[in-house]
Amino acid sequence: MWGMNPLAGVRLTLINPGPVAAYSGMLPGFVAGHYPREKIMIDLTPLAAFAGARLILDTVTRIDPVKGRVHLAGREPVEFDVASVNVGITSDLPDLPGFVEFGSSAKPLGDFAAAWQAFLAQGLAAPRITVIGGSVAGVELALAVAHRLAASGARAEVTLLERGNRILPLLGPRAARILQAALHRAGVKILTGVHPVGLAAGQVRLSNAQMLASDFTLSAAGARPPDWLADCGLAMTDGFLAVGPTLQTSDQRIFAAGDCAHLTASPRPKAGVFAVREAPVLFANLRAALSGQGRMRAYAPQRDYLKLISMGRKAAVAEKLGVALQGRGLWIWKDWIDRKFMKRLADLPPMPQPPLPAHSARGLAAAIGLKPACGGCGAKVGQGALRAVVSALPPTLRPDILSGPGDDAAVLQMGDGVQVITTDHLRAVTEDAYLMAQIAAVHALGDIWAMGARPQGALAQIILPGLSAELQARTLIEIMAAAGTVFRACGADIVGGHTSVGAELTIGFAVTGLARDVTPKGGARPGDALILTKPLGSGTVLAAGMAGIQLPGLLLGEVQAATHASMIRPMGQDADLLRPVAHAMTDVTGFGLAGHLLEMLHASHCAATISLGSLPLLPGAEALANAGIASTLAPDNRAACGPDMTFIESPRTESARAALLFDPQTCGGLLAAVPANQAAPLLAAFHAQGIIAANIGQVTAGQPHLLVRD
Ligand SMILES: Cc1cc2nc3c(=O)[nH]c(=O)nc-3n(C[C@H](O)[C@H](O)[C@H](O)COP(=O)(O)OP(=O)(O)OC[C@H]3O[C@@H](n4cnc5c(N)ncnc54)[C@H](O)[C@@H]3O)c2cc1C
Repeated sequence: MWGMNPLAGVRLTLINPGPVAAYSGMLPGFVAGHYPREKIMIDLTPLAAFAGARLILDTVTRIDPVKGRVHLAGREPVEFDVASVNVGITSDLPDLPGFVEFGSSAKPLGDFAAAWQAFLAQGLAAPRITVIGGSVAGVELALAVAHRLAASGARAEVTLLERGNRILPLLGPRAARILQAALHRAGVKILTGVHPVGLAAGQVRLSNAQMLASDFTLSAAGARPPDWLADCGLAMTDGFLAVGPTLQTSDQRIFAAGDCAHLTASPRPKAGVFAVREAPVLFANLRAALSGQGRMRAYAPQRDYLKLISMGRKAAVAEKLGVALQGRGLWIWKDWIDRKFMKRLADLPPMPQPPLPAHSARGLAAAIGLKPACGGCGAKVGQGALRAVVSALPPTLRPDILSGPGDDAAVLQMGDGVQVITTDHLRAVTEDAYLMAQIAAVHALGDIWAMGARPQGALAQIILPGLSAELQARTLIEIMAAAGTVFRACGADIVGGHTSVGAELTIGFAVTGLARDVTPKGGARPGDALILTKPLGSGTVLAAGMAGIQLPGLLLGEVQAATHASMIRPMGQDADLLRPVAHAMTDVTGFGLAGHLLEMLHASHCAATISLGSLPLLPGAEALANAGIASTLAPDNRAACGPDMTFIESPRTESARAALLFDPQTCGGLLAAVPANQAAPLLAAFHAQGIIAANIGQVTAGQPHLLVRD
């Protein structure tokens, strides 16, 4: 709704621990094996991009209404003017001894989906499963578990535990009877009047002293609000945030909706139908609060709602106002409703590109392109244009300038050693300024690490988009906090900078580093092994994000989150490992692997052979490249390398992997030429530290040239 009708001047922030959120309506179908995981996940990244919201992947630990701050587990607090809390509940049983170690809770749904997949992967022939809680969710899950395991040929024993004297206490008698019969047919054992008192490896101890063998124990019992809500100083009812009909808490700037809220005027059970129906009211009231215009709407929850409960196999029970029906047709109907709901959140209208003016100079369309311009390194000026400028620069005159114009960083004589100095800035690839600052800092440091130097100081250059003074201050605080953390962690400090207002967020740093001697780009020798310390594909993934690309079987949000994590990994360790042995080193950035490797070969007067099969790739990058996604800079990179490259004929040399050789990398890895006998111990050392590094080929004798084989 916000994407369709945004409120000008408002910055919307969505905070969620992960890039996807599971949809509970389809979770039992996933457990039963009717849907693959990606079908039940709402991909938050394109959704947030469509709504113009910045997505922060983090966990809220507290809200401070007095200071107007949301505290996060992984970074500095985020300030707000108006907030809405929609964190749901958990079915965790932390007070049950052993549950944390040996149990799984149905909520959070995403964690449960992962735990279930991991359990299935064990492939036990006769698994024992215990479901705690005989409510609708527990019964639906028990039926789904039994169906899935029976379909896979396992001789499963499923037990449903209910503390009360009957299961499904809140369901009408007819629907309860139908589901009871379904449980019976599926062989699910029902134990009522008992509850678990402890979990151990492979066991559940019951309140009647019985021991139940259990290989997978899941709780659908608890409906606990997150504990931290109690620390926010807001009015509560039984641990839930108390809200009035306008969905405002005791602090009028803070709204709450869904399972974590208690509707004081008309309490209702925790069900998704209420969370969804509250959304239009929440939307209207957030707008009213932020604009100071329009009246707040009141939410009047319906008395009862249609429950469509799946029965493991592709059949369902429908119940409303005590009337119940069952059948396969109801499952088909439920499946249709659920898919329609998910489609609305996934099939987002394409982000319109501003049209070209009717009258323009010849070649304008080709010059500015018809797809969204890439950010990060994809926004760099192409090699052709750059080389022409650099080659026309006059030679440096000062004797204490030791570097040439093609080096990764300038090298200045400083006493016995050298100081290296470099600058880099990036057009934002994310709305999250904190993440963008981490990316820009690691990217700028790449040249320092590539020279084998140790980071010393940094000057920030920041262009902020037009924002209110207050939002400017908040954004700058976030940027400096993020960048400060990156620089301090590698032994450097931010010593100053310059900020201005411009068209879009751009962050850069000029960085200095110190070294006794630098590792040159031009020292590679025939016989050397080529080591690359980060997987390739960031340009392609970022381009896909900009264009809001959806591919079957791929959750773009997860792919982007993995890419961001790889990008912000600092490379001090990489440099420390490579520096003592590397003959030559550079970092792989805007010109792509092929472009930067060729630079090294030209500087070293050598050739090289690399193998496509050995290239480390980011998750999803190959699939996206295969679908034709590429950064705006990739064609230029390919053209610039063309004369110096040969592909040995094979199917793969025309493949997505080959295309990724030209993919511009933001925060790309270090590329080093090392003595061949050092490659194996180096890789072992990298892998021991969890770093994805690979030996991608060899340096050979000959004119500067790159041979690419399968
Ligand atoms: C197996 C099962 C089946 C169900 N089936 C149905 C059904 O068919 N129909 C129905 O109406 N209801 C159903 N429900 C209930 C339904 O899941 C909930 O009522 C509904 O999801 C509530 O929505 P919500 O937005 O309040 O919370 P949730 O859907 O739980 O969403 C909460 C979100 O907040 C995030 N979050 C949590 N803590 C934090 C934090 N500290 N910081 C940042 N983010 C956080 C979570 O990651 C999650 O994305 C089912 C429940 C279960 C367990």
